Amino acid sequence: MNFTKSHEYLKRALKTVPLATQTFSKGYKYFPKGVSPVYLDSGDGSHVWDVDGNEFIDFICGLGPITLGYNYFPVNDAIIHQLNFGIIYSLPHPLEVELSELLVEIIPCAEMVRFSKNGTDVTNAAVRLARAYTGREKIAYRGYHGGGNDWYAITTEKSLGVPRILDNYILPFEYNDLDSLRAQFDLNPDQIAAVIMEPMITDSPLPGFLEGVKKICEQNNALLIFDEVITGFRWALGGAQEYFNTIPDLATFGKGIANGMPLNAIVGRADIMRLLENVFFSYTFAGECLSLAAGLATVNEMKDKNTIKHCWDMGKILRSGLKTIGMDTLGYDCRPYLVMPNNQVWRSKLLEQLFLRGIMIHIGGFINICFSHSEDDINNALNAFEDVLKIIDNTELHGEVTTIAFKRL
Ligand code: PMP
Repeated sequence: MNFTKSHEYLKRALKTVPLATQTFSKGYKYFPKGVSPVYLDSGDGSHVWDVDGNEFIDFICGLGPITLGYNYFPVNDAIIHQLNFGIIYSLPHPLEVELSELLVEIIPCAEMVRFSKNGTDVTNAAVRLARAYTGREKIAYRGYHGGGNDWYAITTEKSLGVPRILDNYILPFEYNDLDSLRAQFDLNPDQIAAVIMEPMITDSPLPGFLEGVKKICEQNNALLIFDEVITGFRWALGGAQEYFNTIPDLATFGKGIANGMPLNAIVGRADIMRLLENVFFSYTFAGECLSLAAGLATVNEMKDKNTIKHCWDMGKILRSGLKTIGMDTLGYDCRPYLVMPNNQVWRSKLLEQLFLRGIMIHIGGFINICFSHSEDDINNALNAFEDVLKIIDNTELHGEVTTIAFKRL
């Protein structure tokens, strides 16, 4: 495989684009430089092509947004149709109403909806709303909620430029450990506005855990916010809240909602959401219509074709195949997580050797499956994994060792 053009672009980018990427997790440092593509320029279904013409089955799926597939007809068609009428206007567009009604219909906690472009925008809105509603300022959290938020960036090693004082306002707790959450409420009585959490990442919730979090919030008059930017449109059509039958006060959705178009949503209880009349959450592009049209087409497609079940089914085949060849996974079938040795060289070799066999995965270990992944794709991936696992311990790394996108402190 030849990556010449990718490296020419990278060389140019390093002069004009800091870190040569717009998204940390897509940066060249997170892939084995030298023996991996750096720039992609097309996709179709579950396959992508890099600028040198190499083809890969993509298990990153744009870090999550590609839930149906690249170049997916009904969604492309909806975007093109809308493009003929306009992208953005000087007043709201009916698509805002139509998509919010659809989300209210399918997401259990959704009574009202507002849109924006990034997960960061909507998690920030949720935290502001909780502060406004409760009159308190501290937040308990568990998960990733967007480094564009000062209140979250302070919890990572990439917190340059963030006022240190914010450290006092964000309190971690452990997943599946209700005592760690109770301890934060005990230490900060009447000060915690909300618990914001990803309902699940890799570990399944222990019986009673999510309900327990909700109860602790209720007992302490704090709000429960589920950050469903990842779990939304993957665990179930109504998100992890539907799957686990635990209904939060507010929830944030993004990534999977519009098959790659930039759209995120904050949804929740009407009495809280109405405070958005005075909580500042307003963006020039928030009502941009190509993304809303894509969102409507994507969610309707998911509903009509039960695309989420297909992703679970493909994930199940992948996980059981991986187990047979000695590779463990965590998480659920809809988003398996590869258990890899804590060794960057080993991980880099795995990526490099998979790339050479036409399989694209991320160093983070998450496998994103979309509706366009076929059983053939899964079997091809399993064959590649099997070949690589046989040779990995006796193979040199040819590219550079990857680093981790960023560490949580
Ligand atoms: N919440 C979760 C759970 C996420 O995974 C992400 C992005 N990875 C975000 C929020 C932030 O989204 P964005 O990068 O679109 O701002």
